[in-house]
Amino acid sequence: MALQIPCAFCGLRSVEEFGYGEVPQVPHGITDPDARDVDRVYMKTNSDGPTPEAWFHAFGCRRWTSITRHRSADTWL
Ligand SMILES: [Zn+2]
Repeated sequence: MALQIPCAFCGLRSVEEFGYGEVPQVPHGITDPDARDVDRVYMKTNSDGPTPEAWFHAFGCRRWTSITRHRSADTWL
Protein backbone atom coordinates (compact mmCIF):
# COMPACT_ATOMS: atom_id res chain seq x y z
CA MET A 1 0.00 0.00 0.00
CA ALA A 2 1.34 3.39 -0.96
CA LEU A 3 1.90 6.12 1.59
CA GLN A 4 -1.26 8.07 2.26
CA ILE A 5 -1.33 11.78 3.07
CA PRO A 6 -4.12 13.39 5.12
CA CYS A 7 -5.38 16.29 2.98
CA ALA A 8 -7.14 18.88 5.16
CA PHE A 9 -9.93 19.13 2.59
CA CYS A 10 -10.21 15.64 1.01
CA GLY A 11 -9.11 13.22 3.75
CA LEU A 12 -6.58 10.43 3.27
CA ARG A 13 -5.27 10.25 -0.30
CA SER A 14 -2.42 8.46 -2.05
CA VAL A 15 0.96 10.21 -2.09
CA GLU A 16 0.89 9.96 -5.89
CA GLU A 17 -1.76 12.72 -5.96
CA PHE A 18 0.54 15.21 -4.20
CA GLY A 19 3.59 17.33 -4.87
CA TYR A 20 6.06 18.00 -2.06
CA GLY A 21 6.67 21.55 -0.95
CA GLU A 22 9.52 22.62 1.25
CA VAL A 23 8.96 24.50 4.50
CA PRO A 24 12.15 26.60 4.81
CA GLN A 25 13.71 26.50 8.26
CA VAL A 26 16.46 29.10 8.15
CA PRO A 27 17.86 30.08 11.55
CA HIS A 28 16.73 33.52 12.71
CA GLY A 29 20.37 34.48 13.40
CA ILE A 30 21.09 34.62 9.67
CA THR A 31 19.88 38.04 8.54
CA ASP A 32 21.76 38.59 5.28
CA PRO A 33 19.33 37.75 2.43
CA ASP A 34 22.03 36.00 0.34
CA ALA A 35 23.20 33.95 3.32
CA ARG A 36 19.58 33.00 4.05
CA ASP A 37 19.16 31.78 0.46
CA VAL A 38 22.38 29.71 0.68
CA ASP A 39 21.26 28.19 3.98
CA ARG A 40 17.78 27.40 2.64
CA VAL A 41 19.09 25.69 -0.51
CA TYR A 42 22.25 23.90 0.65
CA MET A 43 22.17 23.42 4.42
CA LYS A 44 19.76 20.52 4.87
CA THR A 45 19.60 19.19 8.42
CA ASN A 46 17.88 15.85 7.72
CA SER A 47 16.93 15.77 11.38
CA ASP A 48 15.01 13.02 13.07
CA GLY A 49 11.70 13.62 14.80
CA PRO A 50 8.70 15.83 14.01
CA THR A 51 9.19 17.87 10.84
CA PRO A 52 6.76 20.36 9.27
CA GLU A 53 5.99 19.59 5.63
CA ALA A 54 3.80 21.16 2.98
CA TRP A 55 2.09 19.08 0.29
CA PHE A 56 0.19 20.32 -2.75
CA HIS A 57 -2.82 18.19 -3.67
CA ALA A 58 -2.22 18.48 -7.42
CA PHE A 59 -4.65 15.75 -8.50
CA GLY A 60 -7.38 16.63 -6.00
CA CYS A 61 -8.51 19.92 -4.47
CA ARG A 62 -5.39 21.78 -5.74
CA ARG A 63 -4.71 23.29 -2.32
CA TRP A 64 -1.70 23.25 -0.01
CA THR A 65 -1.90 21.32 3.23
CA SER A 66 0.57 21.60 6.11
CA ILE A 67 1.41 18.41 7.94
CA THR A 68 3.88 17.44 10.64
CA ARG A 69 5.56 14.10 9.99
CA HIS A 70 7.73 12.08 12.33
CA ARG A 71 10.61 11.06 10.07
CA SER A 72 11.91 7.90 11.72
CA ALA A 73 8.43 6.50 12.48
CA ASP A 74 7.09 7.75 9.10
CA THR A 75 3.80 8.75 10.73
CA TRP A 76 1.73 11.94 10.51
CA LEU A 77 1.26 13.87 13.75
ZN1 LIG B 1 -7.22 17.73 -1.22
